[in-house]
Amino acid sequence: MGEPVSKVDIKHVFEFYRAMGILEVPLKAGAEIKRPSKKQELSAGEKGAALEKLFREEIEGCTGCKLSAGRTNIVFGEGNPSARLMFIGEAPGGEEDKLGRPFVGRAGQLLTNLIIKLGLKREDVFIANIAKCRPEGNRDPEEDEISACIPFLKKQIGIISPEAIMALGRVSAQTLLGTTVQISRLRGTFSSFEGIPVMPTFHPSYLLRNPGDKKLTWEDALQVLLLLGMKAP
Ligand code: SF4
Repeated sequence: MGEPVSKVDIKHVFEFYRAMGILEVPLKAGAEIKRPSKKQELSAGEKGAALEKLFREEIEGCTGCKLSAGRTNIVFGEGNPSARLMFIGEAPGGEEDKLGRPFVGRAGQLLTNLIIKLGLKREDVFIANIAKCRPEGNRDPEEDEISACIPFLKKQIGIISPEAIMALGRVSAQTLLGTTVQISRLRGTFSSFEGIPVMPTFHPSYLLRNPGDKKLTWEDALQVLLLLGMKAP
């Protein structure tokens, strides 16, 4: 039970424990993350009001970086203001910019499928991005844009106070964890952002191009589910 669990072995470990009817499995060796307990602070209504206030007073109409020039809508993020789990991507794409909602294009459908496969609904979690406006041509947001926008995300995380975050893709993982390590090396192991467990994993857009790696993201998501003490499907 106390032996280290390698990335290679994790799938088999989950299968073994599930077959045994055991859902509380030891997580990765070296993970210093304790299973969190749900904090009782603001109610969902109070958090919703705080998010609304944040948007109205600080973000609506923002011209804090050059992305403001090309956007149609600011994509604030959406979901349960009291979510236990947040998904954080990098920036809105074309569909998201048009509709003002996060992850609604093809990659968004993949994320929605993952959430459903976990036994959840989009309305159960909160979905946001590192940058709230679309970079032209769907390029990655640049450093100055990330620096300008990240305070908003930090405030959102502070209000929502999730028990875990899944960081979707390189930009999200490297920004939250303050590292330049490749996403392929970061994924699969918990780190932390301001005390909140963060599981980096591949961005759904990458998974559309590399469907063979979907199983790795599924394994990452299962670790998060177990951390939250939720039943694996
Ligand atoms: S990306 Fe963020 S900082 Fe830049 S204009 Fe949009 S909301 Fe403001």
